[in-house]
Amino acid sequence: MEFAVVGQEQEVYEDPLDLMDEIEQLKIEKDAKILAHFYVDGDIQDIADYTGDSLKLARDAVSIESSTIVFSGVHFMGESAKILSPEKTVLMPDLQAGCSLAESCQAPDLKAMQDKLRAEGRQIQTVAYINTSAAVKSLCDWIVTSGNAREIVERIPADQEILFVPDQHLGRYLMEVTGREMILWPGSCMVHEIFSLQDMLRAKKNNPGSVIIAHPECPQNILEVSDFIGGTEKMRQYVASVEEPTKFLVATESAMIHPLEKIAPRHEYIPVPGIMESTGETCACNRCPHMARNTLQKVRDCLKHGKPEIVWQDYFNQAKEVLERSLLK
Ligand code: SF4
Repeated sequence: MEFAVVGQEQEVYEDPLDLMDEIEQLKIEKDAKILAHFYVDGDIQDIADYTGDSLKLARDAVSIESSTIVFSGVHFMGESAKILSPEKTVLMPDLQAGCSLAESCQAPDLKAMQDKLRAEGRQIQTVAYINTSAAVKSLCDWIVTSGNAREIVERIPADQEILFVPDQHLGRYLMEVTGREMILWPGSCMVHEIFSLQDMLRAKKNNPGSVIIAHPECPQNILEVSDFIGGTEKMRQYVASVEEPTKFLVATESAMIHPLEKIAPRHEYIPVPGIMESTGETCACNRCPHMARNTLQKVRDCLKHGKPEIVWQDYFNQAKEVLERSLLK
């Protein structure tokens, strides 16, 4: 699926508290539960029934009993929820909420790469980060998240080569922690790609005793100087385990600070700034424009109107096998 260049539509102002009341009522009327990724606005996380990273939310989608799910996140997450729970209606506040990482690996390009490697006589297994379209997932052997990637990579026989798509930075990090060589797809996330090493080191110097926590989607130069590397769930667990009030410099999407403050309010969280490629200036571009498409109004509207909906596609069948083998077993 193609996504338009992201631009935010103007919404007419509505009181967030009224919207939250309306959403609570609609959830009951429509037998719906709301799942929200840690990167959507804190207000949406607060009215969600389930919050988490991609792996947890994919599993939650299977276990909940309501007939309707509202997936507040980005498109590939809604697709994964539908694939794992075909009998449920999966609604999304905004179907245009894509993902630069998912878009960097298109199914025909992946198929061409696999065919080329196999024509060379190479035995490969393709491992895809969950940030991929269902069409790409249907071509893969395994799906990983930042939470389970290491465990899945360790399941692959040593005599098989690994083609890892689409995130080169996560792939490089996994090569380090697992000791496995991989062929890396040259994709990256537009948010994690732009953290400014210089500004991060300056912030560290200005905040003596601070601790840098970084998502493995960050480039190597950021990960090299980080004190803790982990996906969003691991970050939460880590800050919760630190008793002493601490300053954390957070190198991931800035909405992540909301769940960190909720689970461990004794700490201070400072977002690491991004840097604008065009001008080299520091900016607040550590906010994912795709995740930001989710608003309380759109959550209310999709519940009210029963759309937009993720509709089952034929290739979801193959993607289902791969997802179940990777995430549920
Ligand atoms: S933060 Fe990056 S990886 Fe996550 S949805 Fe946005 S573009 Fe995709």
